Amino acid sequence: MQNLLDFDAQGLAAWFAEQGEKPFRARQVLRWMHRAGEADFETMTDLAKSLREKLRVSAEVCSPAIISDRLSEDGTRKFLFDVGAGNAIEAVFIPEDDRGTLCISTQAGCALECAFCSTGKQGFNRNLRVAEIIGQLWQANRVLGAGMRMGAESERIISNVVLMGMGEPLANFDNVLLALRLMLDDNAYGLSRRRVTVSTVGLVPAIDRLREECPVALAVSLHAPSDALRDQLLPINRKYPLAELMAACQRYLEKAPRDFITFEYIMIEGINDSDAHARELLDLTSNVPCKFNLIPFNPFPGSPFRRSQPERVRCFAEVLIRAGIVTTTRKTRGDDIDAACGQLAGQVSNRMRRLPSQSIQFQEVNA
Ligand code: SAH
Repeated sequence: MQNLLDFDAQGLAAWFAEQGEKPFRARQVLRWMHRAGEADFETMTDLAKSLREKLRVSAEVCSPAIISDRLSEDGTRKFLFDVGAGNAIEAVFIPEDDRGTLCISTQAGCALECAFCSTGKQGFNRNLRVAEIIGQLWQANRVLGAGMRMGAESERIISNVVLMGMGEPLANFDNVLLALRLMLDDNAYGLSRRRVTVSTVGLVPAIDRLREECPVALAVSLHAPSDALRDQLLPINRKYPLAELMAACQRYLEKAPRDFITFEYIMIEGINDSDAHARELLDLTSNVPCKFNLIPFNPFPGSPFRRSQPERVRCFAEVLIRAGIVTTTRKTRGDDIDAACGQLAGQVSNRMRRLPSQSIQFQEVNA
């Protein structure tokens, strides 16, 4: 059985060609699947009966099943998906006045072991398939009754997608790329590049590849102004230090749909949240047009850190703002259902843990 959710438009057309079918048939099926949220070939009424029958025996539209669906007091909604073999991943829908954002996962677990992240603590199991990545959007769309075919982009229930859930998107590059293409495709979700954001820990060669192959909005998890501190908090920094990361950000801006990079910066009490750290950030980023998004650290069981006090966050933001950098502080949403940043744990049956030095185990990508 071929799962048709594993294909982007091009892949689906190629598969249809192999079956001796015309490209416009693939387009029709793509629209039924992604715009109408349809999984049953029988209801795809503009397809010939013979084709529907052929698809019924050789193909399926199969997304991961929702195993729990929790609603926070603030309207945030967390979906837990079964991805088999004891693994579960999470997606979070965050409604706001002017948009609805779906935050999706790209890996079962994560291999990067950032010191402050609960997903990292779960260990790494595997990359998600295309159907599992796009399937989160496909399912959420159905459950929320979002029908992407309706209305202007800004009026849609899901108007923005951020790859900020479990996992490192750029460590699962090939599958993430196809999922991104579906999000942008007018015959699928039709989102504009600026409404789709990839968040990365900073895998430099993969940032360059994303720039060439599918430049969407980019967020970089910075979290520290110096290599000494960043090495401690994000071990991947030892492989791609800050100077290289900043240079990659500059290169990315040549193709980016927005004229700035978003730097995410966790605020951890006493670790990275002093005014001196903020001033160091100004130096570090002086050649990279950017915005800062401060994320007060979200605790999770067993975490060694504390969240910075609101007053500290305010002062830190002031330093950046006074230097002319647009700086926002992320409101903590959905923490009553463990849906806040860094709290997505899902369920990962961790086979990598037993291996030594797994800290840099991810799919290498070539620039
Ligand atoms: N691997 C990607 C995307 C996943 S995490 C990345 O690193 O960007 C999405 C954001 O949540 C990242 O900025 C991450 O550093 C942050 N985050 C992780 N743990 C957190 C925590 N406990 N509190 C607040 N933010 C956290």
